[in-house]
Amino acid sequence: MERPAAGEVHMSQAIQPAHANSRGELSAGQLLKWIDATACLAAEKHAGVSCVTASVDDIQFEETARVGQVITIKAKVTRAFSTSMEIHLKPVTLLTEQDHVEHNLASERRKVRLQHEDTFQNLVKESGKFDDPVCDEEDGMVSTRGTSVQSIELVLPPHANHHGNTFGGQIMAWMETVATISASRLCRAHPLLKSVDMFKFRGPSTVGDRLVFNAIVNNTFQTCVEVGVRVEAFDCQEWAEGRGRHINSAFLIYNAVNHKEELVTFPRVKPMSKDDFRRYHGAIARKRIRLGRKYVISHKEEVPLCIRWDGSDQASLSEDNVEAFKKLVAKSGWEVTSAVEKIKIYTLEERDILSVWVEKHVEKPAHLAYHLLSDFTKRPLWDPHYVSCEVVDCVSEDDQIYYITCPRANGTKPKDLVVLVSRRRPPKDSDTYMVAVKSVILPSVPPSPQYIRSEIICAGFLIHATDSSSCTVSYFNQISASILPYFAGNLGGWSKSIEETAASCIQFIENATDDGLISIF
Ligand code: ADP
Repeated sequence: MERPAAGEVHMSQAIQPAHANSRGELSAGQLLKWIDATACLAAEKHAGVSCVTASVDDIQFEETARVGQVITIKAKVTRAFSTSMEIHLKPVTLLTEQDHVEHNLASERRKVRLQHEDTFQNLVKESGKFDDPVCDEEDGMVSTRGTSVQSIELVLPPHANHHGNTFGGQIMAWMETVATISASRLCRAHPLLKSVDMFKFRGPSTVGDRLVFNAIVNNTFQTCVEVGVRVEAFDCQEWAEGRGRHINSAFLIYNAVNHKEELVTFPRVKPMSKDDFRRYHGAIARKRIRLGRKYVISHKEEVPLCIRWDGSDQASLSEDNVEAFKKLVAKSGWEVTSAVEKIKIYTLEERDILSVWVEKHVEKPAHLAYHLLSDFTKRPLWDPHYVSCEVVDCVSEDDQIYYITCPRANGTKPKDLVVLVSRRRPPKDSDTYMVAVKSVILPSVPPSPQYIRSEIICAGFLIHATDSSSCTVSYFNQISASILPYFAGNLGGWSKSIEETAASCIQFIENATDDGLISIF
């Protein structure tokens, strides 16, 4: 087995039946305990003093481990923030390129943590304004009342460190137990923990405390359910007086599988009380934030997918561009993430790939929108993500290669792109125009040191006439790793840039005159 690098801690554990659930899989609670213990050991190695867990970022569970297998947990300190640990820590020494990436991501995550409360409040307000799914009462909606579960634990010495502070991982494991019972009451199937939302420990608890865990289902999203858990601690006197300390609240997301191992679709929940409503909307806001955070937090290596532009095979490369775009458009499973006035944003998550679809209603005829949007030299006029855009190869009237430069963001070098844009007018029996975009490698436009060459895997516009004077413009983008952080922050609600760009696009088309179009044609 590889030896841990300096500053890293590895923990290996053989999974025994006592660590497993009734299906022989490693229980998520046990895993949380081990993760917490390893992280704590790494922090202590760095700080030279005893550490306790202050907060936990989102955790995603991707695979299950079984009895008889061995798992290794690796922990390293990626960044020390002087105030977050309340002791002054020496800065982390960064050795490898990967260390630098993780160091910068740690700062992104910190920003996310600090802004979380504001973002959450804004999204809750917004989610209350959306087409309220609660209003269209349906058959099969269920009350969550039956999913309320309470449990009490007494903190004993094995649950705490040598100073008597309860291990964060132990508290998480207890939370997971009650949350699992709560989720199972809704579906009567076997819940599988999929992710835990980030949370902060609000205060310490120590040996001798009684911890009271209250869990209930807050909302369901097709095959996912969110269960919330609130934990209060009572010492002996507080226990007698019935006055506890709120030490944390966490939100756990589960899937469930039936006896055939198929994913179960949860019934929609029907909020009844004021608390139910608050939590129902809270769950919608957290889901949106989680989606954004997932992609800020998980830095994925980018796989170069760029196609080399080959002069001899132009027709088939252009057709591939159009076909790839049609496939993206035809995918199922898009979920609405926001809907404000004329702009609706959908997202589609497929493992590591995130795709975004922005749908806009435009009060101008489809052919005008098509004309304006398929000419990428006009894009800097409305899209703030484009600084310049010029044609570098005119393949045919409807297939052009453009060189694009983008603005500088967050102190990094500006990005540039070389893309093939293929536009198609509707066939006879349809009124849908299409503009497909993807990156290509053009030897005559090599990457330059002033720019970071980035990539569009598959993107484009679909323009559909609603009547003779208005249309729906849909922008699709399968997001690559290099631009994910920008989109992710957007989806998380930290910036309104997707909505603003969409609004600017609508305005650009609506301000154009048909006269101008006629003279251009
Ligand atoms: P909020 O109620 O605003 O979500 P809390 O921190 O009070 O925030 O609670 C966190 C979560 O714990 C709630 O969303 C809910 O799922 C669960 N919870 C809180 N109180 C109870 C309770 N009395 N019974 C069951 N579950 C509860």
